[in-house]
Amino acid sequence: MPDVIQLLSDHIANQIAAGEVIQRPSSAVKELLENAIDAGATDIQLIIKDAGKELIQVVDNGCGMSTTDARMCFERHATSKIKNINDLFSIRTMGFRGEALASIAAVAQVELKSKREEDEVGTKIVVEGTEVKLQEACAGPNGTSISVKNLFFNVPARRHFLKSNSTEFRHIVDEFTRVAMANPQIAFRLFHNDKEQFHLGSGNTKTRIVDLLGKTHAKNLVPVEEETEFLNISGFIGKPEAATRTRGNQFFFINNRYIKSPYLHHAVVNAYEGLIEKESFPFYVLFLEVDPSRVDVNVHPTKQEVKFEDDRMMYAYLSAAVKHALARYNIAPSLDFSLNPEIQQLPSVQLPTTEETKTKTAQGYLSNTFANKGQAHRIEKSDSLKRWKDLYEIANAQTPEQKPVEEQAPSLHEDHNKQHSNDNAQNILLVQGRMLVTTVKSGLMAIHIRRAQERIWYERLLSQWNDGEAPTQKVLFPVSCELSPQDGILLNDALPDLARIGFDIAPFGNNTFVVQGTPSDLPHGEEQNIIEEVIEQLKHNADDATAKRTDILLTGMAKRLSRNTTAIHQKENQQGLIDELFACTQPEYTADGKRIFTMIRKEELDKKLDGV
Ligand code: ADP
Ligand code: MG
Repeated sequence: MPDVIQLLSDHIANQIAAGEVIQRPSSAVKELLENAIDAGATDIQLIIKDAGKELIQVVDNGCGMSTTDARMCFERHATSKIKNINDLFSIRTMGFRGEALASIAAVAQVELKSKREEDEVGTKIVVEGTEVKLQEACAGPNGTSISVKNLFFNVPARRHFLKSNSTEFRHIVDEFTRVAMANPQIAFRLFHNDKEQFHLGSGNTKTRIVDLLGKTHAKNLVPVEEETEFLNISGFIGKPEAATRTRGNQFFFINNRYIKSPYLHHAVVNAYEGLIEKESFPFYVLFLEVDPSRVDVNVHPTKQEVKFEDDRMMYAYLSAAVKHALARYNIAPSLDFSLNPEIQQLPSVQLPTTEETKTKTAQGYLSNTFANKGQAHRIEKSDSLKRWKDLYEIANAQTPEQKPVEEQAPSLHEDHNKQHSNDNAQNILLVQGRMLVTTVKSGLMAIHIRRAQERIWYERLLSQWNDGEAPTQKVLFPVSCELSPQDGILLNDALPDLARIGFDIAPFGNNTFVVQGTPSDLPHGEEQNIIEEVIEQLKHNADDATAKRTDILLTGMAKRLSRNTTAIHQKENQQGLIDELFACTQPEYTADGKRIFTMIRKEELDKKLDGV
């Protein structure tokens, strides 16, 4: 038998490799646009014919290439962007594999024209299926123009599998949109079959969003701006009412590179909890800036998926940043203190940071709340007082323009506060057994009793959870519960969490559990009920991340413990409830986002009375 192994020719190797990088016209579009950006272009044109099947051309005014570089750029592993393996981990430019042009040239007819500013003349090169057909000097403007004609002309199977023109062009527009979105300072134009489809002037993220996605978005954008030691988050999210039933306007960029991440998407959706319907997608264009050594963008051939050194940390920060943005614009409460305290144990949070980043980020909201001393994820008590005052102030000073919280004048706080605690004791009305109405300086305030209790319980449980030492009261007669095998497993998993909030529950074999102790405030006789409730909660959220499980547990417990509102019929308990509510870090909303109190301002009452 003869030997059978042969080396593939460069040509075939390139064609095979090309399949990884260039799957369809839009992949070539992406690579060419990224190269133009890396070349420092400020003006980029994308010219498409027949959804890219006939022509994909990118014209830029970037740095251009020398004659030799113009020839070299089509070689596999030819790149000016990395020199050694360490560069891979610190790279900030878009390309870094030196594969794109080689791949494109392997499967198309390519014409490149390029000229550097310092050169008298430029270079023109024609390559067809890796073969250089022509190289000559040429005249032309500074910058580079690359035309990719008849993509997959020599790979009929691939060409055959391209989708309809409308589908392929849609992919191209998607790529164009992502690249243009991430580079609003660069002017872009897109032509399809000689018709101009996009004409984007140099601008900022906001103008770019509106230019790309439509004017209707302008009024729905809520800015996000957070700097922390670990990552910076900026961009825009949509108001809850702008959420849609279909996906489409969701953009994540990590270090200015578009990525897809169901995990991070979940973090954003999580921040909207209670504000949008379960099945709908919030609008967002978010830029996450991290130290490049902390993400690996290289795991996916087309670089759309990334691996983070610590994705749980990213999740927590992103979610908190979105919540904060919603809160700042009075759209939703800021619930960041419900962050999983485990986050602070994560190795990446413990990593030392430079003094420079520390001082730079010390002003930031996230740093001040859950990144206390750069690590602690809990709001300090002293801070909570300030925060409820802020919220109270919003309630009093709400203006139609929805000013950010931070911009509102804090001057009225003191006397307002005094008045609230001293004079108002007699001014509380119990309405329908479920609401407390009281007068405050600026009008009337109505408080939902059960929700207020829920909030108070939630925060009490949370702080016990954070301290890790909740007082337990021994049950006089231990209660045993027999569960189904499935429920047994759920409860078993939750035992450590339950112990942390004061439950002493022992597994007794055969899915039987004995409740020996409960949190000290739990009324007797509630043991079985609360266990069932907890299991019910866990069941409905079985596939949620563990980070959320704590929250589910605490929220569920708080709900259960707030069932009994009879005590509130006594006057002294009413004032106590209001005081306790406003000592909470977040008195405005329950843990699951329901409004606890509302204000009717004096002007509104006047208006109603005078009928203007
Ligand atoms: P990579 O971008 O990963 O380096 P490419 O195959 O996309 O690999 O490009 C190879 C090289 O060709 C780049 O590193 C760059 O030096 C050069 N190049 C490609 N496109 C342009 C352009 N539009 N302007 C200037 N130089 C370019
Ligand atoms: Mg490239």
